[in-house]
Amino acid sequence: MCLVGTIAAPTKRASNPPLRGSEALVGYSTTENIASGTQPDIKYSLLPGQKENPDIGSYLDFENVDNPQPIRGSTGSDDPGPRLSHNRLGIDGAGWARQENTVVMPDATDMAGVDMRLEPGGYRELHWHVAGEWSLVLNGSCRIQAVNPDGQTFVDDLTAGDVWFFPPGVPHSIQALSDGVEFLLVFDQGDFNEDNTFLATEVFLHTPKSVLSKNLGVPVSAFDNIPDDELYIFEGTPAPEDIEEQNVTTQSGVVPRTQSYSYHFSEQPAHEVAGGSVKIVDPLTFPIASNFSAAIVTVHPGGMREIHWHPTSDEWTFFIQGQGRATLFTAPDAATTFDYRAGDVGYFPQSNSHYIENTGDEDLMFVEVLQASQFTDMALGQWLASTPKQIVADTLNLSDSTLSQLKTEKQYVVAGSTSD
Ligand code: MN
Ligand code: MN
Repeated sequence: MCLVGTIAAPTKRASNPPLRGSEALVGYSTTENIASGTQPDIKYSLLPGQKENPDIGSYLDFENVDNPQPIRGSTGSDDPGPRLSHNRLGIDGAGWARQENTVVMPDATDMAGVDMRLEPGGYRELHWHVAGEWSLVLNGSCRIQAVNPDGQTFVDDLTAGDVWFFPPGVPHSIQALSDGVEFLLVFDQGDFNEDNTFLATEVFLHTPKSVLSKNLGVPVSAFDNIPDDELYIFEGTPAPEDIEEQNVTTQSGVVPRTQSYSYHFSEQPAHEVAGGSVKIVDPLTFPIASNFSAAIVTVHPGGMREIHWHPTSDEWTFFIQGQGRATLFTAPDAATTFDYRAGDVGYFPQSNSHYIENTGDEDLMFVEVLQASQFTDMALGQWLASTPKQIVADTLNLSDSTLSQLKTEKQYVVAGSTSD
């Protein structure tokens, strides 16, 4: 049979965007459109004493506070929420961070997460770490920059829905633009600790000034005013609006586009399915993040992320919006059910089957993050529909009529009724 010249029959989803986006979304672009959104409107009131010097130790009772905020004295800043866990507060209201790692989830051995907020102009200090860092911008926008071991430079502006990746040991910084930023960080080590990163200030503080002088070829007095403590999260000079002003040009050139540290995932349209939608970003389109594959899944009310498992990787899940119920099946005979809401973290070990139902009346949205070179899952429905009927019938005692209704196409998210 000759396929040349044949015209594929039009399908119902002819215009449905594919699961993966364009390679053109990788890396720095001068034409990209960073939304200059407004800061989230956060309504809250502070307790008496909450803005006082925290060292005084004023008693703060948050029991009956509607929207308690991670603010103590001049540290920390407001939070669009939701939040359930301890926050580490930045200097002078510049932001905050909270983390999930094996200290709080001992079984989550392959990945750890940090949720971080930076107020407008706020920095996450220049630093590096042993783990690789994958990130999804949750709201606002920021400028990220890095230098690779070849001295090649990278800078880019990202907005809500975009993704970045910094390989182990590659030093980088993040600065919020005029609308502030909140982002999710996922690390490829379950015992990652955000408090143990290598900070630029600490490198200087732990090196004799005579050595710094010799190393950098400047007088010892050049270091008279370096900070006497780490900065971590702090307020800085606002980033110049024109990113070109921070595009450092050296003889080494820039990080090549194929190895770029950003992916403009927000510009990738979602692939629509019956009960919601799916967007995948993995090394097929974002090669530098060679061990990170992720899907943003939207589940309409009543819908369900179908029963599936990930053959090669554990899954680290962050709930972005809405509420859901997940059940995990672990061989041979254990099923565990968990309720989640926005801000929560879930963890599904490799090849353990799971499904997530939307239990609310708004769209449920979460991100599934895998340690894999490609986003893959085995779907229960597709598996059984694609297996010889006699084998399935002999095993599960299902009727011919039932078997003929199983769908060979992967569903990702199935539709359902909210009155179930
Ligand atoms: Mn980092
Ligand atoms: Mn999954």
